[in-house]
Amino acid sequence: MTVWDEVVGQSPQIGPLRAAVDDPGSMTHAWLVTGPPGSGRSYAARAFAAALQCDRGGCGECRECTTVLAGTHADVTLVATEKVTIAIQEVRDLISRAASAPSGGRWRVMVVEDADRMTERTSNVLLKSIEEPPPRTVWVLCAPSPQDVAVTIRSRCRIVGLRTPDPVDVARLLVERDGVEPELARECALAAQSHIGVARRLARDPAARARRDQVLALATEIRGVGDAVLAAADLVEVADDDARAATEERDALERAQLMTTLGVEDGSRMPPALRAQLRQLEEDQKRRATRHKRDVLDRAITDLMSLYRDVAVAQTGAAVDLVNVAHEGHVRELATRTALADTMRCLDALGTARERLAGNVAPLLALEAMALDLRPRTAVRR
Ligand SMILES: [Zn+2]
Repeated sequence: MTVWDEVVGQSPQIGPLRAAVDDPGSMTHAWLVTGPPGSGRSYAARAFAAALQCDRGGCGECRECTTVLAGTHADVTLVATEKVTIAIQEVRDLISRAASAPSGGRWRVMVVEDADRMTERTSNVLLKSIEEPPPRTVWVLCAPSPQDVAVTIRSRCRIVGLRTPDPVDVARLLVERDGVEPELARECALAAQSHIGVARRLARDPAARARRDQVLALATEIRGVGDAVLAAADLVEVADDDARAATEERDALERAQLMTTLGVEDGSRMPPALRAQLRQLEEDQKRRATRHKRDVLDRAITDLMSLYRDVAVAQTGAAVDLVNVAHEGHVRELATRTALADTMRCLDALGTARERLAGNVAPLLALEAMALDLRPRTAVRR
């Protein structure tokens, strides 16, 4: 498989990137790869970086390709933040790195995966380097949409807009690359609504599928106020556990590394002069955990929305595929038990909860209000 084969379902979209690899005359020094979450924009950026370093335009097998994809190539810098914003100092460091010529490769490639997480001030710092890059330096920024980056930045970038891939293409990737059984691959690609990363996690991790099923079960379990409050608390707990599992080990490792860098022996007291550094690390880690938790909750709400969307499809008799094929019985049951107006009201409640979470409302409050709105209103229709 070449590096491009894994950029699923985007052949026309990535044409300009491939052309720039083949013909230096069509190279641009600043690119902005956009696309909805899970469309593979950061993968496309890496594939481009690999293809630029590879003798064969991205064979996927040579040392250049594999080290770029693994994030260890000396001339390719990958920046993926898990914080809410990219710090101005990080961008200054990137710029000084971007200024040096490539050490062995053909290009120095700077990939910023979350370019939408820069404040305006930080963007302005970056702008100078993008406007007048060194001759062998290429910037590749990624963001959900062009509107998510400062207009000054995007007006200087060539934009590559990815689309949501077809679930059929995502399923094929899971089968070909991950060896997933075709039927499970299709089910997971649909359930993930073509989000490649989510589809793969669902396909490979039965626990992730079970967690998702648990979230979807809420749609039928919430009957009264008591159920709603409990369901909200459960969701927050699942998100907390998930965040802890995802960050704990890494936090400890980072702490140990910092202690070594500062020359503090394990188990000994931290000299007061060095405490500020430790505090900074702890704050960063806390922010990262908060972001992870919010992402998990957002995913849970998106999953519930997909279920109500299926219910609406069943209620209106629209001739489109269900997202939750494995839950068809459950969907049909809800569709007969409730009216379309209820389904729309539930979708609204879920949308509001997403907005509240994004607006930093305490998660438990946002979810309680949501769960209360998911209670059935109309009497059972028969
Ligand atoms: Zn290669």
